[in-house]
Amino acid sequence: MTNGRVNPKATLEAQGITGLGNVYYNLIEPALVEAAVARGEGRLGKGGAFLCSTGQFTGRSPKDKFVVRTASVENTIWWENNAPMAPEAFDRLHADMLSHMKGGDYFVQDLFGGADPAHRLDVRVVTELAWHGLFIRHMLRRPDRAELDSFTPDWTIINCPTFKADPAKHGCRTETVIALNFDKKLILIGNTAYAGENKKSVFTLLNYILPEKGVMPMHCSANHAPGNLDETAIFFGLSGTGKTTLSAAPDRTLIGDDEHGWSDNGTFNFEGGCYAKTINLSAEAEPEIYATTHKFATVVENMVYDPETLELDFADKSLTENTRCAYPLEYISNASATGLGGMPKNVIMLTCDAYGVLPPIARLTPAQAMYHFLSGFTSKTPGTERGVVEPTPTFSTCFGAPFMPRRPEVYGKLLQEKIAKTGATCWLVNTGWSGGAFGTGRRMPIKATRALLSAALDGSLNKVKFRKDANFGFEVPVEVPGVDATLLDPRATWADKAAYDAQAAKLVKMFSENFGQYLPHIDADVKAAAIG
Ligand code: ATP
Ligand code: MN
Repeated sequence: MTNGRVNPKATLEAQGITGLGNVYYNLIEPALVEAAVARGEGRLGKGGAFLCSTGQFTGRSPKDKFVVRTASVENTIWWENNAPMAPEAFDRLHADMLSHMKGGDYFVQDLFGGADPAHRLDVRVVTELAWHGLFIRHMLRRPDRAELDSFTPDWTIINCPTFKADPAKHGCRTETVIALNFDKKLILIGNTAYAGENKKSVFTLLNYILPEKGVMPMHCSANHAPGNLDETAIFFGLSGTGKTTLSAAPDRTLIGDDEHGWSDNGTFNFEGGCYAKTINLSAEAEPEIYATTHKFATVVENMVYDPETLELDFADKSLTENTRCAYPLEYISNASATGLGGMPKNVIMLTCDAYGVLPPIARLTPAQAMYHFLSGFTSKTPGTERGVVEPTPTFSTCFGAPFMPRRPEVYGKLLQEKIAKTGATCWLVNTGWSGGAFGTGRRMPIKATRALLSAALDGSLNKVKFRKDANFGFEVPVEVPGVDATLLDPRATWADKAAYDAQAAKLVKMFSENFGQYLPHIDADVKAAAIG
């Protein structure tokens, strides 16, 4: 039976997906919550939030993600970073998944990836779980109801957590699979209920499609000064570096917290919602994000709560440290209604340095910015990926290697051109450790990071005195009003200076060893910015 609203010419049957039980097209939030609760997928929490757990998978499974190796993408995919799947294996996976789905009820959401109509993707997401439909409806951008009557999906994602892949037959690694087929414009996800896979699949697609149109896709958050798109800032950063936290600033208009494009018209959000970490989320430090956990239909993932009072325990990591909530942007009071920003005036690269070596803020030349963009240094936070249990230093190029189907230089060149054209000021911000490495020092106070960012964005930081960092060559402010001057010089925060110097030397060496792979592909000025 077909329920809901859909383009009659673009039903699942029209796409060859037949024999299902009930199909629910484009249900709105209350109906999805109702269905999810009725099906026992989770519970209604305080304020009407939807509380659920994702089972075995509480983070992404990057090693189980595959790109189908077809002739049309053979020469453009970065195969060293994207595991290939044979087209025949994908076809078997597709057929087996469709036969597994027979008789089951499914939820279909027709949505846009991209706030700029010139560059958006029309994506259909077919989910076995009602709450996955709710999640992706929060996360992507919703067409007007009337637009649904003619909505024709460009791409289709089928997400079926009860389907287990067979590595021998389907050419994958385990029973879990995320397979992208650029020829069939189809993504198949099996054996994981972690909702983040849905949104990051769309991100991966846009990362492939947009560079050909001269648009830079970015793993970044973005905001602008209220009423002034000329004062747009973007915040690149890997998971846990503070994109979501720092873009939701009380004195700025939030464009988005995770994925954006930079075109000749300015910046645009790919999404329509946010996916925030909730571990130790405090009402004092992050009031807006905290409030969303008690709003109707917010998806609250893997948080432990009192079964009787439904009180959420923000400190409980027993299901995972990667507890999350997903909510539409309009739940944040100062969010942009359009998802559109101007040309970035400030480009911030966030890193969470668990070594405690990098300064809390540094100003970068365009060549240094390119160096840090290609390096993508951070420490992985526990939980976001399976198997990561303590902050682990890593290099993930373009601040998002798991989502980059093309070679890093493609994105690097695009960003370099955009920065050269607009003259954006670039900054490196360490939201990680200070006063020692993880274990000895402590995490940078959010208040200090916010104060430094405010000074960078309002231009006042450009007027202070800078010193040149001996290890990294970038410029570091010596004194910033409202910020403890000791904090600005990481070496000064360490009790044992020799230990700092040794740690810094180790990090410089790691940067230089990692960067070797890019040397054959980059310009002389970026080469000159290479350290070590
Ligand atoms: P993801 O890509 O996984 O969504 P993210 O970049 O959005 O990650 P956040 O969700 O903002 O990262 O997570 C940053 C975490 O670090 C939050 O839990 C925040 O409270 C904590 N934190 C601690 N100190 C700082 C700091 N100085 N700046 C930013 N975040 C900090
Ligand atoms: Mn985030």
